[in-house]
Amino acid sequence: MALGEFELIEHYFRRPAEVQCARRSDVPLGIGDDAAVLDIPAGRQLVAALDALVEGRHFPAGCDPQSIGHRALAVNLSDLAAMGAKPAWFLLSLTLPAADEDFLAGFARGMMSLADAHGVALVGGDTTGGPLVAVVQALGTVPAGAALTRAGARPGDLVYVSGTPGDSAAGLRLLLDPASGASLDATQRRYLLDRFLYPAPRVALGEALLGLASACIDVSDGLAADAGRLAAASGCALELDLESLPLSPALRDFAGEGAARQLALTGGEDYELCFTLAPERAPLLAAQLDNVKCAATCIGRLLPGTGITVRQQGRAVTLDLRGFDHFPAP
Ligand code: ADP
Ligand code: MG
Repeated sequence: MALGEFELIEHYFRRPAEVQCARRSDVPLGIGDDAAVLDIPAGRQLVAALDALVEGRHFPAGCDPQSIGHRALAVNLSDLAAMGAKPAWFLLSLTLPAADEDFLAGFARGMMSLADAHGVALVGGDTTGGPLVAVVQALGTVPAGAALTRAGARPGDLVYVSGTPGDSAAGLRLLLDPASGASLDATQRRYLLDRFLYPAPRVALGEALLGLASACIDVSDGLAADAGRLAAASGCALELDLESLPLSPALRDFAGEGAARQLALTGGEDYELCFTLAPERAPLLAAQLDNVKCAATCIGRLLPGTGITVRQQGRAVTLDLRGFDHFPAP
């Protein structure tokens, strides 16, 4: 059966009223009219983020549609997490070469199971024909004036990263070249692949960092590049300790220690949070990490000045720290 645009939206994106999360009480008008109407709680500010996933750019052609749906929403929830926002709603602009039902079923399953896990509702969007591109706009709220930004850190603050960066880049390599993982067992291979295909946005951690972290950024282009952006926005220099980088056992087995560190610093698409903290607040952080069941590791510090230094056993080392750039200098 050929699916028209209207049937497609009805079938895959408009959720039945029984789905709790799809029917938030703060959505007086969702999918079906010309625009959605949303209630913003008193005393809170709206936080908005938008990211596109383009076939051949952000995921390889032929990638599992369930992963594409998951990642299109995950990367946006990660941006809200970096601001300490509580996600509430999202819009989807989907451009498809054809109304392929297998693709749509997988895509919607991936997107909606992540949406339900975070209690966010799809409140509108747009559906057009063309090359495969999924654009999501995520909307959330923070207490007025409390949003975390890249700019709040000061010299002396400690730099942390959640999780184990580098895994996602290893997962992408495995996806593109399955033979590259000869040293891995099946569990490790699945773990690394899933870190690329199904990243977990650190929403609870972001909210737990409100009033605690001095600055925050999510790691999408590479840890060193993104931590460097935070430092620059805060008017500080960044110093990272190579030995402190948290590496997963699977990443070590995949790449070996040296290449694993390089992937952790520059791999990208981790969707972990990199944040800073005044040193005297470290004990408060431990309690919050416990609450949200998330690991984070101190990987360095901010200093007066500019630029990035990486130290190994105290000595400055030279590494290529460039992150992903859609339009790199020739
Ligand atoms: P309009 O022509 O007024 O832009 P559309 O036909 O594009 O309306 O959309 C009809 C309704 O369906 C709108 O409420 C819109 O937000 C929603 N919608 C369209 N595409 C999607 C989608 N992919 N996901 C969720 N909602 C969508
Ligand atoms: Mg429209």
